Amino acid sequence: MARTVIKAGTVVTATETWDADVLIDGEKVAAIEAAGSHSWETGADAVIDAEGKYVIPGGIDVHTHFELPFGSTFVSDSFETGTRAAAHGGTTSIIDFAVQVKGERIMDGYETWMNKADGNCAVDYGFHMIAGDVNDDSLKAMDALVGEGVTSFKLFMAYPGVLYSDDGEIFRAMQQSAENGTMIMMHAENGLAIDVLREQAVARGETAPKYHTVTRPPSTESEAVFRAVALAELAGAPLYVVHMSAKEAVAELTRARERGLNVFGETCPQYLFLNWEDHVAAPGFEGAKYVCSTPIRPLAEGHQEYLWNALARDDLQVVSTDHAGFFYDDDETMGRQKRLGEDNFTLIPNGLPGVEERLNLMYQGGVVEGRISLNRWVDLCATTPAKMFGMFPAKGTIAVGSDADIIVYDPGAAFTYTADTIHMNIDYTAYEGIEIRGKPEIVMSRGKVIVDNDSYVGRKGDGRYVKRGMSQMLR
Ligand SMILES: [Zn+2]
Repeated sequence: MARTVIKAGTVVTATETWDADVLIDGEKVAAIEAAGSHSWETGADAVIDAEGKYVIPGGIDVHTHFELPFGSTFVSDSFETGTRAAAHGGTTSIIDFAVQVKGERIMDGYETWMNKADGNCAVDYGFHMIAGDVNDDSLKAMDALVGEGVTSFKLFMAYPGVLYSDDGEIFRAMQQSAENGTMIMMHAENGLAIDVLREQAVARGETAPKYHTVTRPPSTESEAVFRAVALAELAGAPLYVVHMSAKEAVAELTRARERGLNVFGETCPQYLFLNWEDHVAAPGFEGAKYVCSTPIRPLAEGHQEYLWNALARDDLQVVSTDHAGFFYDDDETMGRQKRLGEDNFTLIPNGLPGVEERLNLMYQGGVVEGRISLNRWVDLCATTPAKMFGMFPAKGTIAVGSDADIIVYDPGAAFTYTADTIHMNIDYTAYEGIEIRGKPEIVMSRGKVIVDNDSYVGRKGDGRYVKRGMSQMLR
């Protein structure tokens, strides 16, 4: 068993910041002590000098989509390329979504996704299950999956005819989750109303990417959040609303939390850094790069500042990415992706790449620019995600007995995101030109260094499936 000492760094967790050395024995943290109070370096296999650096728990991205079919194409990142890019960005665990579509059995979808990931991941991984066809067999499968470490189920109020569930189906799944203790995750948008708006827009000749946002106004998100909360309360189930982008929707969630309900919400960097005016409504077809659902909203409406404040106030609990990249220009291997919607925005595959940039963006926009504390940064990107989805304290913190998923983070590093320097399998970054101060110097997954100063030194298959327990956020 290899013994590694990370010395002279500043250890940062969700609750504490202190100067300490960390001893890693094999895959776990063995001890944390003040510098000079021990003689660990004698007999250690490796010593990492972290002076002037932060020593933080590895990032956890609880919302990624790798190898996901979307319409006639696939998300461009495989589990191999996606998790390697995650590692470069300081994310050492991801939770992806296994999918059941209409007419399929849940357990078959679960097996399919387990096979896609098996032996391919650079970092540890788990699965949520998308229940796209709620029926008696699906409800039984929800119980069976708990034993497999799948303790969260995602439902869609959007995408009629594809993944959409009606209120009765949603309510039945919520009752099942109330009974078996699992978490319901919700894509909260009124998909039926949105489809009407989209059809009408296209009929008027409004086919540019910018109409993607216009046809998904804030009320379609806030109405769905209100309805999801009401159904969850009626069923007695916990609720986690994914990728929130409208301030009106977050306000609905906050009202429910103030009433003491077990409801939670996440947002993503695209809603905190990008906007409709400059990105989605950019000239030509450029806006297709920023088409995702829920949509990126107008800066003028004040959503962005509201979301940052919601993160600081704990009205939102998690920052994930909803990573789902599609090539902007036709790709030799992946073919036509974003350009499928060149003449009609409704045909643009929905999603943005981002699994690589999250930790650095949140450090820059949050800590450097003074919107959240250093500890809150760790909390939003690692600790609460681990607790929310039953992985704590093995993941999400640095403590004796925790997995040694550790980032030595250099707050003095400076760089700019460009399409040429990212590691995801895609031809653009949504954060082109954004200047970042701070960067992972060493990325360690269960005691093994997998990224060393920008070089990937791990191996495909290093990542292990994480059997998750129940959410540790429920009261
Ligand atoms: Zn998603």
